[in-house]
Amino acid sequence: MIIVVKNNCEKNQFDNLVDWIKEIGLDVHISRGAHSTVLGLVGSTEKVDIDLISSLDIVEQVQRVQEPYKNANRKFHPEDTIVRVGDIEFGGDSFQLIAGPCSVESESQIIEVAKAVKASGAKILRGGAFKPRTSPYAFQGLKGTGIELLLKAKEETGLPVVTELISLSYLDMFDKVDVIQIGARNMQNFELLKEVGKTRKPILLKRGLANTLQELLMSAEYIMSEGNDQVILCERGIRTFETMTRNTLDLSAVPVLREKTHLPIIIDPSHATGVARLVEPMSLAAVGAGADGLIIEVHNDPKHALCDGAQSITPEQFDVLAGKVNRMLPIVGRKQF
Ligand code: PEP
Ligand code: MN
Repeated sequence: MIIVVKNNCEKNQFDNLVDWIKEIGLDVHISRGAHSTVLGLVGSTEKVDIDLISSLDIVEQVQRVQEPYKNANRKFHPEDTIVRVGDIEFGGDSFQLIAGPCSVESESQIIEVAKAVKASGAKILRGGAFKPRTSPYAFQGLKGTGIELLLKAKEETGLPVVTELISLSYLDMFDKVDVIQIGARNMQNFELLKEVGKTRKPILLKRGLANTLQELLMSAEYIMSEGNDQVILCERGIRTFETMTRNTLDLSAVPVLREKTHLPIIIDPSHATGVARLVEPMSLAAVGAGADGLIIEVHNDPKHALCDGAQSITPEQFDVLAGKVNRMLPIVGRKQF
């Protein structure tokens, strides 16, 4: 971190600032210029309150030169982290498809979809049991029964399952769930992040509707700081002024995050676009951008889906999409599934 101090400041104000920084446990390198003096802070600067220092009369500018996340930072962990779900790997040269309905609706629905997506190459089954809906009157999910049905589908097909945790009070029900999803609306639910950080399960962390990539990385940091480094990041579209799609898919998140972090990055083209016919083109674009996988909503009867029918593709459409993705993978240096 660098602090630029005005040269016209009183000596005692300057000394007080330097003493204060040293008291926090940091070293200070001082370089005096013609118009200002630059303090270089060396050590763990995460705890320094930038706003507080900026507010001092004698301070012209404060700048972080080191990112505030350490565990998620590629600088401290240059090689890709491989997140393992059984023998399924996220990261490196693998590419994984996660697919299934927005929400678990019935035993026949989830099992039929699970069998179909598995046959097309999906390695993990998705399905919401607890649904964070905008309206309190909309279908809220089958809750505990939804998890039981997901586990039944897992038993039938052998596919591991991912489902969303929306409250700490439900964590006990997630014992047999393979991957815990933290949804966009809970990306900054820091208590939830800390608790899933204490588990040793892989966490699928979705980017918030209006969150920066740095905030996404800080949320990953919350999980990792509790000892769980099995975090998969997911870009699922952000809120912009555009209204023709549900959200705007920020595909540049993939190469940007790739530079900043060693964690795997997947794309959710379903929530990003909100439109079934846009799911395939954006999936292929995600492969091109270097994503480590896709999470896609697939429903056997989208017209009658209890949630997100408009963006759900059919098993047949998913099969075509998976075939195209698989053919693209060698071009981008990845193993086919
Ligand atoms: C979901 O995956 O069903 C979901 C609700 O996603 P998001 O949190 O990205 O909106
Ligand atoms: Mn959904």
